[in-house]
Amino acid sequence: MSGGGWNVIRCSACSTCHGHRSIGRICPHCGQKLPSDAEIVTSVATASELRIEVALANTPEELRETLRKRLYENNKLFHQEEPISFQSLPKILHDATDESGILSLKTLQPVLEKSNNGMELENLIDLAESQGLLVRLNQDCWQLLE
Ligand SMILES: [Zn+2]
Repeated sequence: MSGGGWNVIRCSACSTCHGHRSIGRICPHCGQKLPSDAEIVTSVATASELRIEVALANTPEELRETLRKRLYENNKLFHQEEPISFQSLPKILHDATDESGILSLKTLQPVLEKSNNGMELENLIDLAESQGLLVRLNQDCWQLLE
C-alpha cells in the first residue's frame, strides 16, 4: 500500500491492532518491534475511518458488524453538525474518572445527565472509543487516555 492511506496493522506479539501510515516500527500496545511483513488487516483512506477500523479490529468478531454500524453512524453525525457533545466530551469523560483515570458506566451516568448533552450513554462511549479517548478495560470499565 502506498500513497496517502492508512493501514490497520496487527501486532503478532499481542494480537492488538493499531493504525499506521505504513508498517509501524513498534507496537504501541506492547512495545514489540514489528516485522516488515506484519499483518495488514485493512487499509483505509482517512484518519476517521482508521479510528473506526482499528476499534473494529480490536473487537471480537461476533460484535463487529453491530459496532461497525454504530461507529459509522456516529461518525456521520459527527461530521454533519459537529455537535456540542463532541466539544464537551473530553470534559465529561474527565469528570467521570477517578484519580487513576478509570471510568465506569456508574460514574459516567450522573455526569452525563448533569451535562445535558442529550447523548445516550452507549453512544457516548462508542464515540469516545472511536475518537481514541477511551480504551475499554472490561465490560464496565474504561481507561481515559489524555
Ligand atoms: Zn503488540
